[in-house]
Amino acid sequence: MKGKWICIYGAVIVGFILFVHWSNRAVTTAVEYQPIERKHCIIIDPGHGGVDGGATSCTGKLESSFNLEISLRLNDLFHLMGYDTVMTRKSDTSIYTKGETIAQKKVSDLKERVRIVNETENALLLSIHQNNFSDGRYSGGQIFYGKEEGSEALAKRLQEAFVVNLNPGSKRQSKKANGVYLMEHIQCTGVLIECGFLSNVQEEASLRSLEYQKQLCCVIAATVSRFLSNT
Ligand SMILES: [Zn+2]
Repeated sequence: MKGKWICIYGAVIVGFILFVHWSNRAVTTAVEYQPIERKHCIIIDPGHGGVDGGATSCTGKLESSFNLEISLRLNDLFHLMGYDTVMTRKSDTSIYTKGETIAQKKVSDLKERVRIVNETENALLLSIHQNNFSDGRYSGGQIFYGKEEGSEALAKRLQEAFVVNLNPGSKRQSKKANGVYLMEHIQCTGVLIECGFLSNVQEEASLRSLEYQKQLCCVIAATVSRFLSNT
């Protein structure tokens, strides 16, 4: 009989210790997973739009619509992760304010994009584009960086993430965005992402697919978020 009571007391004590231990853990866990405060505003710039369709893919789809689809998905992802975002356009439009010829409208459109970026506090720019070449053999994403601090480091990380997750075996490297008006006039960290080649049959098919677009956006959003957490 005595042994039985010892066992019951023992079980109650062990149960109590476990209860205290796990309730403390629950408190610790709740504290550890407080929502992270995001101080950056991610500006997502879908390249081209409206009068300026950009490149035309090998199946006849305009670069501007690839850029918009991918940018809208990226915008949703960054929102889910708790970031403030700004999009330079949310539909198939050019955001020019003046100009009569297409060339004048393109200049005005780019100046508007620069204005939006430079008027946003704590901005980080992701300009979304697609590549195109006369030879259909070439493929792979490539990241171009602006002149402001952090841009080169972010481009390097994104390029590595593209090679590991999207374009295995690619030898492409990040490069300075020389001669790109938007990238030369912004005053914040910024990169221009050429997601892939619209002139390559396989890559164009991937870039059109919902699955690949989602994968691409996850790679970009996760890499940018990790970069911002470390800087
Ligand atoms: Zn473009």
